[in-house]
Amino acid sequence: MTFIPQTGSFEGMKSLNKTAILNIIRLKGPISRAEIAKMTKLTPPTVGSIVGELIDSKMVIEETGESKSHGGRKPIMLTINASSYYVIGIYGAREIIHTVIATLDGKISYSNEEKLSTPPTKDEYIDLLKNGVEKVLQQKRIKQNKVLGIGVGMHGLVDPQKGISIFSPHLHIENIPIKQELESAFDIPVLVDNDVRTLALAESWYGEGKDISNFVCLSVGLGIGSGIMLNGEIYTGQYHSAGEIGHTVVDINGPRCQCGNYGCLEAYASELAIISRVKKGLRLGRSTIINDWIKETDSQLTIEMVFDAAEKGDAFVLEVLEETGRFLGIAVANLINILTPSKVILEGRIFEAGGNTLLSPLKEIIKKSSLRSYSDDVSIVTSDLGKKGMVIGAFTLVLKELYTTGKVLTNGDGYVVDG
Ligand SMILES: [Zn+2]
Repeated sequence: MTFIPQTGSFEGMKSLNKTAILNIIRLKGPISRAEIAKMTKLTPPTVGSIVGELIDSKMVIEETGESKSHGGRKPIMLTINASSYYVIGIYGAREIIHTVIATLDGKISYSNEEKLSTPPTKDEYIDLLKNGVEKVLQQKRIKQNKVLGIGVGMHGLVDPQKGISIFSPHLHIENIPIKQELESAFDIPVLVDNDVRTLALAESWYGEGKDISNFVCLSVGLGIGSGIMLNGEIYTGQYHSAGEIGHTVVDINGPRCQCGNYGCLEAYASELAIISRVKKGLRLGRSTIINDWIKETDSQLTIEMVFDAAEKGDAFVLEVLEETGRFLGIAVANLINILTPSKVILEGRIFEAGGNTLLSPLKEIIKKSSLRSYSDDVSIVTSDLGKKGMVIGAFTLVLKELYTTGKVLTNGDGYVVDG
């Protein structure tokens, strides 16, 4: 199975030079052959021959540039032929499966979201992943051999090497063979990683993490996770579970967490934890606008209600969010002390809804708890990509292989260079 199904042969693509040139055209295009030769220090004939192969494989196209002098010859420039091939990204969350198809410049051409109302079984979840892929292919009328790869950002514990979802703490499903299932269904190479790590990858390519070698993404939703970029590489740890900040203990006498332990950060600061703290307040008779909403509509308390109440300035809800900010501040301060990133990127609806009510105590705790020498230099920002970053990062797993290693995938464990 190769990255470029239509060329038939993969010769040359395996060479590092070819990958390097392709990546230069992606980053600097439109660019001339002469400029590429200058940048790579390769001889013009070598550049010419490699570019020829890239044009033959339809990955790169020529266009006429502007001449530098009046009446001078117009230079031939090279750019990525973005819609010659496609990549598919899937964000597999507990409550939604978001599937997109994108061109080689990372632009999404079609997006499909499937909301999961009831928790699916393992087989149902696999079917939902497959349905998403089928839908984006059908909608855009794209043939499978035009897709270079499928990247999956899956919630929970993931083994990227085997392409398995080891454990979904919210769905209580173990060992979903995502790579194997999707590859046998579509005959397209599949890469799988944890969703917050794909978010970190997206941030490093398109978002707040661009041109930064050391940063951390903290994502808060139903659960809490972090994606760690260390020296320009996503850090996965020995057992692929690095970044599980949600299950670090904030208080050993604290409430029970989804994972079975007590007092995890997730049990204090996730959306589920916020809902249960607001519920507790309602039981204790705290005055809040949410009381009226629930009585009027006879509906269950949702996180959307909490966010709406915050927007309306509900004092009780703002108090809960302020407290949440302090818990998250402790977690971020710990991350900063351990990893010394230059930036922390916060992702989650809670940061939009909480605004400064949540961010001020968060930043205050960081200032107090992280070491003085560098805490002032760490910038704390909210993600512009938001939840979409998970699915963008998912297809970027494939683009990264294409542009930085030139490696192709096999159905076995790990990667090998074709040929
Ligand atoms: Zn836990």
